[in-house]
Amino acid sequence: MIKFKKTLPFSFTMLSVSIIRDVIISEVGDDALKLVEHLKKHKESSDFSLAEALGEDINSVRNKLYRLQQQNLIGFTKRKDEEKGWYVYFWFLKPDSFRYAYKKMLETKLRKVEEAINRKSSESLYQCSEGCTRLSSDEALSRNYVCPDCGNLVEPLDNSKEILKLKSQKNKLMKSMEKLV
Ligand SMILES: [Zn+2]
Repeated sequence: MIKFKKTLPFSFTMLSVSIIRDVIISEVGDDALKLVEHLKKHKESSDFSLAEALGEDINSVRNKLYRLQQQNLIGFTKRKDEEKGWYVYFWFLKPDSFRYAYKKMLETKLRKVEEAINRKSSESLYQCSEGCTRLSSDEALSRNYVCPDCGNLVEPLDNSKEILKLKSQKNKLMKSMEKLV
């Protein structure tokens, strides 16, 4: 008999606090952090109970909910208040959207780091031995390898340490991405 691996729905237990923070700060703004923490703890809340719990006025809460909804990070269900006869919206976080947003953030960072590695690997720069200036190889040649500021000789710049640092950043990003899958 073939056993199929059951794919579990993605939940917040798999999403670290730091991922939630990173996504909110980058996509919505850090003023929404408290509201998101509250939703995470209480599973769902109406805008009125959020306003009360956070000690904020209703418009400020609605503005944050609006921004979160724009990024598809929250959803809602509406239920009728039988006493008052109107509908109340209950908001909840969407863990899959957080994961997706975080993945996209990592991908963007990774692309930038890779571009920087390629750029640094192909450029050849010269630096004054006194540290006053950096020249491209063409400029260095046209100036006979003499620093325009102090007259000392310029030397090929060793950027292998910078490249190494970028490569370790790249590794970290790739590990974070593997963990997310
Ligand atoms: Zn110099």
